[in-house]
Amino acid sequence: MIKITDKRDCCGCAACVQCCPKRCISLREDEEGFLYPDVNIEECIDCHLCEKVCPWIDRPDKQQPLEVLAVKNRNDGERMASSSGGVFILLAKKVIERGGVVFGAVFDNNWEVVHTYAETIDGVKPMMGSKYVQSRIGNCYREAEKFLKSGREVLFTGVPCQITGLHKFLRKEYPNLLSVDCLCHGVPSPGIWRRYLHEAVGGADYKDQITGIEFRNKYLGGWKNFSFLITGKTNDENKVLYSETHGKNAYMRGFLSNLYLRPSCYSCKSKNGASHSDLTLADFWGIDVISPDVYDDKGVSLIIASSEKGKSLLYSLDVDVYESSLVVAKTMNGAFKEKTVPHPKRKKFFEQLDKSSSVIKLIEDNSKPTFKIRLRNKINYLNQKMIKFKR
Ligand SMILES: Cc1cc2nc3c(=O)[nH]c(=O)nc-3n(C[C@H](O)[C@H](O)[C@H](O)COP(=O)(O)OP(=O)(O)OC[C@H]3O[C@@H](n4cnc5c(N)ncnc54)[C@H](O)[C@@H]3O)c2cc1C
Repeated sequence: MIKITDKRDCCGCAACVQCCPKRCISLREDEEGFLYPDVNIEECIDCHLCEKVCPWIDRPDKQQPLEVLAVKNRNDGERMASSSGGVFILLAKKVIERGGVVFGAVFDNNWEVVHTYAETIDGVKPMMGSKYVQSRIGNCYREAEKFLKSGREVLFTGVPCQITGLHKFLRKEYPNLLSVDCLCHGVPSPGIWRRYLHEAVGGADYKDQITGIEFRNKYLGGWKNFSFLITGKTNDENKVLYSETHGKNAYMRGFLSNLYLRPSCYSCKSKNGASHSDLTLADFWGIDVISPDVYDDKGVSLIIASSEKGKSLLYSLDVDVYESSLVVAKTMNGAFKEKTVPHPKRKKFFEQLDKSSSVIKLIEDNSKPTFKIRLRNKINYLNQKMIKFKR
């Protein structure tokens, strides 16, 4: 039976919850706002299936990438509406056109992030854009399995631990499955997101006021200097309620300074080939330095193809493709690191959470970069300059 004694050993993929034949595992939110499995011991029949599908107990081998590429969607409108180079929407459209089903993350009616599936292009559009909150996966692995067994093509997208969870849950290869993960900085707490949103928008009816949220708006400051944006209704007019560049926005600062990532993210076991995804999507940070002719501040994707299936779907899309290498991509993108240092004030932040009347102030007070972080950023910056100089 699944028993979490150390929270660093549960990524919240929920493969255990969805595989349980007695349906006696549920998810409970802890004081940090993350979900963890909770077993109803009375109903458990000790079949141990939950342990077999747990990516932390039975760890998958890592697969090697076949190709590393810089990719741009040729449709600028789609690229601007996406976080990186707009590859997700092209993959999704292709699968929908072939009669398939697409799984991905959307906002629910409460502006919380949940996984769902779509069978139409309109249904896929809300999945566009990164939502920097751990999504609730619900019953998506079970639903995907049903579609796969019926012979439908399935595109399943998510963060690396969700894709690992999917493969562990399925326990067999399906030729009609295309799994796609992203290169992940880590997932922030849904509980902190809820509190942040309430305070940022304000008022008891804050959820009804909001009409849209973008973590990565490119229209205001471009791809590199992206903005966090909330739009909403005031006096029946749709207005920008909140707009800040990511460097200024408290929620994004707390996320990027590792203040409230899930404990398991600080030592991720699903990155760098362990998720067995066919494709990995990311930002090609540093492309302006490596290939200035490719860069235009509308977004360039870094794509890692790890299977022939993934490669063939990618090459069927309307995209511009440029060859690259893992060495170059890794120099430029910190998200390849499996070990991420928690912000030194993470513990203090969560200890003060209950007593604090303002989560925004608490984030601001605790997320200032330490000397070590400033030094690391300086070294990364100098590394990039060196690469530019050598070229
Ligand atoms: C939590 C998180 C952290 C990330 N960290 C990095 C990073 O450090 N470095 C980097 O290079 N790239 C990172 N990415 C990936 C990047 O932000 C883009 O999502 C990715 O490059 C795809 O971009 P796109 O332009 O092709 O499509 P987009 O339309 O921008 O992306 C849509 C895709 O993202 C998925 N998605 C959105 N939110 C979530 C979520 N909360 N959980 C699971 N899936 C989600 C959707 O299901 C869909 O597949 C991260 C993504 C997420 C969700």
